[in-house]
Amino acid sequence: MSRPTRALVDLAALRHNAQLARSLAPAARLLAVVKSDGYGHGAVEVARALHAHADALGVACIEEAQVLRAAGLRAPVLLMEGVFEPAELAIAARENFWLVVENTRQIEWLERTRSSVPIGVWIKIDTGMSRLGFAPRELGAVRARLAAIPSVAPGIVVATHLACADEPDHALTRAQLERLAQATAGSDAQLSIANSPALLAWPPARTGWSRVGYMLYGGSPFAHTDPLTAGLQPVMTLESVILSLRDLAPGDSAGYGATWTAHRPTRLATVPIGYSDGYPRSAANGTPVLVGGHRATLAGRVSMDMLMVDVSEVPDVHPGMPVQLWGPQLGVDTVAAHCGTIGYELMVRVSPRVPRVYRS
Ligand SMILES: *Cc1c(COP(=O)(O)O)cnc(C)c1O
Repeated sequence: MSRPTRALVDLAALRHNAQLARSLAPAARLLAVVKSDGYGHGAVEVARALHAHADALGVACIEEAQVLRAAGLRAPVLLMEGVFEPAELAIAARENFWLVVENTRQIEWLERTRSSVPIGVWIKIDTGMSRLGFAPRELGAVRARLAAIPSVAPGIVVATHLACADEPDHALTRAQLERLAQATAGSDAQLSIANSPALLAWPPARTGWSRVGYMLYGGSPFAHTDPLTAGLQPVMTLESVILSLRDLAPGDSAGYGATWTAHRPTRLATVPIGYSDGYPRSAANGTPVLVGGHRATLAGRVSMDMLMVDVSEVPDVHPGMPVQLWGPQLGVDTVAAHCGTIGYELMVRVSPRVPRVYRS
């Protein structure tokens, strides 16, 4: 038999979450963000499952876009950082990849390209994230310059990215929305503002194109509980089974560095999943793990291929018992909080060694 560690991907949950995203902004168009292999779920399978739900797809680079085309997906694909070199422009024109344009070099490359097929362009404005984009006061000139390029398609979108949309009523979010409104006053350009937290929590961002990733996969972008995220369904279940069991006496330790010690007679289960599979080594002693549906706790350091769980409180514990590392019964965001990170990172780090098993 094969190693029992796998990531179940529930495509019905994915579609449910996409419908929820759409219902929040019925007039907006939905760009499903499938970068980083669909946040670890498999970009091709995710894009296929969403073909009736998403108006376009978003990726980080042309290599990711080409994987989608090679699989036969025809939806427009936005390169969210634009092109990294001018040779990508001919491919973008041929394949209907849309480009974010965020710096002057990218404009110059477009001016020099001889593409007869017009390319869709989104201008990125830096309203306070300080990562990509032109200053708000540059928008008019950039837009005029791009509109004059024959290879640029009409209908240029103006986009910005919010730094703090996951925090309620943050002053920077209000300032970013205000800067974009000022820069685009009197313009008929379509806007794109919302990522998942903005779509959920900031109604003024629900306009034009929503660029939505994390919530499609059922994660909550908020540290606080929110009634809207309660309606999301986790798409990924990272699961395995108990490989081995042993009984420890008080004083016995477990794992590399002996960082965990039994304080009472303890039953430990060994589970064949480790940091090489993407389960974080930073997970602290006490991180929740579900064993046979019961909440148990991580004991000792996560190894490359295995980890140990204190299953003393789990009834009828036995080898082969199912273990859920995260999923519908144990939120990835809860696990992430014990690892000093966010659920986004846990999802995208599930390694290629873990087979993805799809349920439609
Ligand atoms: C990744 C990304 C998104 C999606 O963000 P989520 O919080 O996952 O919804 C949106 N816009 C840009 C520019 C991104 O890079």
